[in-house]
Amino acid sequence: MTIYSYSRLTVYEQCPLKFKFRYIDKLIPEFEKTLESHLGSIVHQTLEWFYIQIKEKNITPDIEQMMMYYSKKWEENFTEEIKNVKKELTEKDYFNKGIKFLVDYYLKNKPFKDNTLEVEKRVTINLGENGKHKLQGFIDRLSYNPETDEFEIHDYKTANNLPQKKKIKGDKQLALYSIAVKELFGKDKKVCLTWHYLSHNLKVQVRKTEEEIEELKKEIIRLIRKIEEEKEFPYKKSALCQWCGYKKICPAWKPETRELEKFPTIRKYIKD
Ligand code: SF4
Repeated sequence: MTIYSYSRLTVYEQCPLKFKFRYIDKLIPEFEKTLESHLGSIVHQTLEWFYIQIKEKNITPDIEQMMMYYSKKWEENFTEEIKNVKKELTEKDYFNKGIKFLVDYYLKNKPFKDNTLEVEKRVTINLGENGKHKLQGFIDRLSYNPETDEFEIHDYKTANNLPQKKKIKGDKQLALYSIAVKELFGKDKKVCLTWHYLSHNLKVQVRKTEEEIEELKKEIIRLIRKIEEEKEFPYKKSALCQWCGYKKICPAWKPETRELEKFPTIRKYIKD
């Protein structure tokens, strides 16, 4: 039995060929990190550290301490190998974006009395009765609101885009994590899914019904079966190819393929 992570499923949905390169052929990508992923990682690490101080040491760091931690982590983890995809922005621009995200978050959420239970909590989700399909992931932060008797799963987003509410409501990741929270704390517990869109300083909350969660489980099992039965792993070009570390070896981007793509019906004759 393979335990899937949500990010692995996302890679398949984004592009089956990228999934094959990464998880089946285990090819090393041309670059591992981009400035966007570095920013996301350091902001997440900073918020993880921040809430650990509150939860375990009963200390709420001030905004200056938060900035110090962020700056230190940025420097420690920065390497020249990190790819800058958007040439119009520099490392400094990304660094400053992170500062703004954290300052806005701090001012909006202080005094941080929302009863954090866990940070970077690893969870395993049983999707079927027989335990045949399992999914693993990390919850950025879990809190409990005694007034509403609700558990809250928090997720921090550092990308620039703000999806439409309909798309956020259809997001599968946190809904799947809610299955694990209910397994841990009780099936009848209420769970609220909370996204913090840091570049927009916006908090979005969604609550799922039992029926929606059951339907989602079936959908994910269908997706896992599809991956396991997949033979072709076709490429799927999108704007995200810019951030793909396999672009140099990807047949979708070879000049001859681009020419042939003018005739979609002959696509099946091209060997990947
Ligand atoms: S470059 Fe694009 S099409 Fe090619 S493997 Fe990467 S994501 Fe897929």
